[in-house]
Amino acid sequence: MTDANPLLDFSGLPRFDRIEPAHVRPAIDALLAESRALVARLTTGAVPVPATWKDFVAPLNDGIERLARAWGIVGHLHSVNDTPDWREAYNALLPEVSRFYAELGQNLALFAQYKALRDSADYASLSAAQRRIIDNELRDFRLSGAELPEAQKPRFQAIQEEQAALSAKFSENLLDATNAFAEYVSDESELAGLPNDVIQAAREAAEKEGKNGWKFTLHMPSYLPVMQYADSRRLRAALYRAYVTRASEFGPPALNNAPLMRRLLELRQEEAHMLGYANFAEVSLTPKMAESVEQVLAFLRDLAAKARPFAEKDLAELREFSAKTLGLPALEAWDYAYAAEKLRQARYDFSAQEVKPYFTEPTVLAGLFRAIETLYGVRITPDTAPVWNADVRFFRITDATGQRVGQFYLDLYAREIKRGGAWMDEAIARRRLPDGSVQTPVAYLVCNFARPVGEKDGRPLPATLTHDEVETLFHETGHGLHHLLTRVDELGVSGIRGVEWDAVELPSQFMENYCWEWSVIETLSAHIESGAPLPRALFEKMRAAKNFQSGMQMLRQIEFSLFDMLLHSRFDPASGEEGILQLLEAVRREVAVVSPPDWNRFANSFSHIFAGGYAAGYYSYKWAEVLSADCYAAFEEAGNPFDPTTGKRFLDEILAVGGSRPAPDSFRAFRGREPRVDALLRHSGMIIE
Ligand code: ZN
Repeated sequence: MTDANPLLDFSGLPRFDRIEPAHVRPAIDALLAESRALVARLTTGAVPVPATWKDFVAPLNDGIERLARAWGIVGHLHSVNDTPDWREAYNALLPEVSRFYAELGQNLALFAQYKALRDSADYASLSAAQRRIIDNELRDFRLSGAELPEAQKPRFQAIQEEQAALSAKFSENLLDATNAFAEYVSDESELAGLPNDVIQAAREAAEKEGKNGWKFTLHMPSYLPVMQYADSRRLRAALYRAYVTRASEFGPPALNNAPLMRRLLELRQEEAHMLGYANFAEVSLTPKMAESVEQVLAFLRDLAAKARPFAEKDLAELREFSAKTLGLPALEAWDYAYAAEKLRQARYDFSAQEVKPYFTEPTVLAGLFRAIETLYGVRITPDTAPVWNADVRFFRITDATGQRVGQFYLDLYAREIKRGGAWMDEAIARRRLPDGSVQTPVAYLVCNFARPVGEKDGRPLPATLTHDEVETLFHETGHGLHHLLTRVDELGVSGIRGVEWDAVELPSQFMENYCWEWSVIETLSAHIESGAPLPRALFEKMRAAKNFQSGMQMLRQIEFSLFDMLLHSRFDPASGEEGILQLLEAVRREVAVVSPPDWNRFANSFSHIFAGGYAAGYYSYKWAEVLSADCYAAFEEAGNPFDPTTGKRFLDEILAVGGSRPAPDSFRAFRGREPRVDALLRHSGMIIE
């Protein structure tokens, strides 16, 4: 292989100092050819290789890892350094790389090899991690139709393609319907209550079209503040109606998502039947932690029953406050967010901006690292590596004996050419190499915080973070630790690989709890001017505000989750568009404390399940929250958020094992019992102690 192409250098860390967009095409072309040749050699050679781990799985994983690593670097650079050249290089190869992985998933010769290995005497002698990799492979092949009779395969393929097209159209319709609406305000008095930056943006939007006045839209930065802050009930009502009827029969027929939804449900049902399942929810749950539709439904209904009294109390408070203080005796759907914001302000008189100067970045990072070091008995120290931007830092994690466990990049600040949001991604995954040595894992932690501004006494001031941003940093670090502290030797289930989708947020949400511990916050905060920690009284207000209206919020999430699960399990797609509406109505009657107007068409914009891969999976949000809260409760029961015994057990039983065993087993090994919802309810202020 050519030394000149740094994308093909797998001897260590990615060569961010040398990699250029021009390297992408030759490197990826070479790796694709190499990978295809390998697959051919392993499956169609004159003498087929024996279906053993050593002869088949190990070389396959070895060979394909090179492509995954190189393409991972390209994808990463496309996300954090999205210059026209990088975008072009990425997009040019994306279809080819996607096609390769699709072929791999459809390759029946590979499937046959895995099946032969599963049925051989060898299987029993493999490690648990190796057996799990084989089982996962077989499961994924089956779910993608590999076992169907040949005659049925074209139909199965057609179903997949039609679903993909319908989901894409669903998103397009929703976006077009969102863009089609604008509310122009010419009377300045209608702006009362809105934040200045929102007014300014509305003014600029109108100006751009050569219009006077202000333009409001259904995009979040315009819609949300109107619903929360606009004193004008007329303005709120107008935007609400437009928002909740997007892509429905109340708009242009071409943008109506209802027929697409009906068709998607039909196709999913047909797919499930072809694969031998009773309904699509069973297909969706097969690779997940939840065991059955019944288990998920019971979980959601139990949570709903427990949250309900608190939601009723939330609602009663909101009604009383609105009647007395806002002159709104009867709340309409477009009043709730507004009234809730007013009540929140009245009760907890602090703002996010008041908190921010205390969370200075160096103190936050030091506090975060200290928390990790205390919990898991590791050390985090600065390290050096080639990086893609001068702002990026690099760290090394070592264990008690000084051995390197892993390394990570930290890219904290927003840049114009960087994708928004925050995420963790893997650069290198842990594995044991054929020579017996260990390839230690490397992670990317990426955020989009504002970079430092200003200076004092000639020295630059550090960046400051909101408490939300501190939570985001802890969350992504939790994902990072799952990847970095793994002890699994096999690539396919090392770190977050192979972890069930509804359990993967456990370590990340777990870490968020530490942002609500006074003993942590005290060490995490140092005021940008005075260096003082966050005042305790202000912290207590934040804690109280955290659970504001949590009962109503939880019921809302459960309403969506229950609708989604019933739609994909108990619903007959033949009952059509009307039937979808009726099901949503029934779910609301069952769990909600407030019902929206009967013209509300929420389902028509429920992208998560119709366009986003969450079909029969929306419950995962609450599911993972229950797991993470329950794990954290083990520390509370030990009387110390850093209890060393519990910390070691969390490391050993949850983080270190990664995807090498089923998540329910890992949970039980850590907690000594099945998950319970109590801790989440308590953390949400829904248990009276
Ligand atoms: Zn996450």
